[in-house]
Formats: sequence, structure tokens, C-alpha cells
Amino acid sequence: MQTESLRLQMVQNQLRKRKIDDLRVLAAMSKIPRHQFVDSSWSHRAYQDRPLPIGYGQTISQPYIVGYMSAAAQIHPGDRVLEIGTGCGYQTAVLGELAQEVYSIEVIPQLADQARHVLQELNYSHVHLKTGDGHQGWAEHAPYNAIVVTAAPPEVPPALIDQLAINGKLVIPVGTSHQQLLVLTKAKAGIVTQKTFSVRFVPMVKSFDQ
Ligand code: SAH
Repeated sequence: MQTESLRLQMVQNQLRKRKIDDLRVLAAMSKIPRHQFVDSSWSHRAYQDRPLPIGYGQTISQPYIVGYMSAAAQIHPGDRVLEIGTGCGYQTAVLGELAQEVYSIEVIPQLADQARHVLQELNYSHVHLKTGDGHQGWAEHAPYNAIVVTAAPPEVPPALIDQLAINGKLVIPVGTSHQQLLVLTKAKAGIVTQKTFSVRFVPMVKSFDQ
């Protein structure tokens, strides 16, 4: 079957049927060739309803989770967005379709290199990658209208809240053995935290030792 029809089936069955109705997110995920972000030995499973290994003990999230987090971040076309945990770069590409500028940090250099290669091939020239620890965010380009974190810290890193614009959204899995996906909104009067559902992400680490 052609990848385009697999992709449209993914959007229909895994996203629309589960109430993801943000049209820009659905359009982005209908377009991006998810199979190009995984190793060729896994590409036949790229559109299935599951996470997949991307090497170095890491995984690309299930499509539904990518769709949910991208919609929860409420990104507008002129926005600047920060992502922590580039991984294979698939979520990064989705953010690239939604925002004007995307900054993404990955702690494993080899994954950052692979993601850079695919994102360049697909012409995401407004997506900027950096290798390093995302706990401190990327102050140089702050404030961000949205921050999406795809590795789980035990608590929300304060630098990420600092680097959020007013009315910005921070979408982040938090916890150790039990993680919750949180959506924080930076209102003028303070932070509003919405708890969504339980998730299982890889831990957010301080450094990568091979
Ligand atoms: N969004 C990714 C998910 C990758 S899994 C994708 O679609 O493929 C989470 C990623 O976060 C891993 O690649 C892991 O190496 C990275 N990570 C873990 N701790 C980190 C940290 N402190 N800073 C930046 N990236 C981190």
C-alpha cells in the first residue's frame, strides 16, 4: 500500500476518531512522511498505532500522542516554538508545519545528526537543532509561544516556564514511574496547570554517556 493512503488512514482512525480535531495538526500529519524518520527496518510499521524504537534506547511516540501534544500546544502560524527531545525529528517536523520558527534540543548527538539530515532533506529550513541538555531551555531565542517536551523530567524545569511567552503553553510529561501529561498555560496572574492523562515517556536525562 502507498504511504499516502497509510498516512490518511492513520489520521482518520488514530486521530480523528479519538477526537483530535485541530485541522492544522491533521493536515500536518497527513503530509509528513513519518516512515522516513524511522530506520528502514521499521518503516513498514511507521503508520501503526504504537511507538517505535529509534535507536539508543529511545522511541518515536505513538502518532496519537504526537497529535494530542501538538494540538494542546495551540500553535499559530507566526509562533516561535521550542521542543525538548528531538529524537528522530518527527514531532519536530509537525511543529515545523504549525509554527514560523522551531528550535529543538536533543541530548544524544547521533540522534540530533540523523534528525538534522531528514529535516534538511524535507526542506525544514526554519527548524533549528542543537545538541545538549534541554533542562535550561534555549534562552537565546526565548520567549516561546509554545514549548513541547517529549522526555519526562521528575518536575517541570523552571527555565522552561521562564522562557514561555505570556499565554504560551508548555506541554510536558512529568513524573518518574508514573507520569502525567501536563499542559501549563502562562497567564499574566500565574501558571495554570491542566492534568491530562497518564503517559510513558523516556526519562529526561542531564547528559548522555555512551
Ligand atoms: N519527539 C521524539 C521523541 C523521542 S524520545 C520523536 O518523535 O522521535 C525523547 C527524546 O528526548 C530522546 O531522543 C532523548 O534522547 C531525548 N532527551 C532525553 N533527555 C533530554 C534532555 N535533557 N535534553 C534534550 N533531549 C533529551
